[in-house]
Amino acid sequence: MVNRPHVLIVEDEASQREILAYNLEAEGFAVTRAETGDEALTLFSETPPDIVVLDWMLPGVSGIEICRQLKRRDASCEVPIIMLSARTEEGDRVRGLETGADDYVTKPYSVAELMARVRAQLRRTRPSVVGQALSYADLTLDPETYRVHRGDREVKLGPTEFRLLSTLMEKPGRVLTREQLLDRVWGRDIFVDSRTVDVHVGRLRKALGRHGGDDLIRTVRGAGYSLG
Ligand code: CA
Repeated sequence: MVNRPHVLIVEDEASQREILAYNLEAEGFAVTRAETGDEALTLFSETPPDIVVLDWMLPGVSGIEICRQLKRRDASCEVPIIMLSARTEEGDRVRGLETGADDYVTKPYSVAELMARVRAQLRRTRPSVVGQALSYADLTLDPETYRVHRGDREVKLGPTEFRLLSTLMEKPGRVLTREQLLDRVWGRDIFVDSRTVDVHVGRLRKALGRHGGDDLIRTVRGAGYSLG
């Protein structure tokens, strides 16, 4: 798979954190670990993940407070959060509170169950990173086979153009800024100029239009790019 899904695990208990991280990594996820809420917020802003698994009981700032903060900000509100809480009263309370969490899992949980929930959230928000085929207009993209077709013709793309297209195809119509594209396509670890985005969008346009057809990528002046 080209785009590895990135999970931020926020869990103060080392053994639970490691078991979860081990299993997610074995399934091809990129994992960032945080032990406290403050650390989670810092890591989130450094490299925004695709999903957060967040323990409720943390030393210092609680998981609920972290969840509220992330859901309040434009930059982070779309990232799904799965809250972990202890069984019984805590579990009921966490559900009753309007934290904005996308899902809840009570401890003790089965790792397989939690992974299934993680995938379910990602199928909704980042379908290409969990291998789901995407389509828009006469375009189809299959992240498993790494193939793109426009109508009956296969479109050959380099790895960066492929990631760029899959990111745009996840939500046609939504404008992604160059900054957002840099995060999702290149990741924050690599230093690239925002004009690099323009260069690769240009290459993608050219590849998609090789045999004619409408230009499916829209340039929004001063904002960024969208599909359609
Ligand atoms: Ca805990």
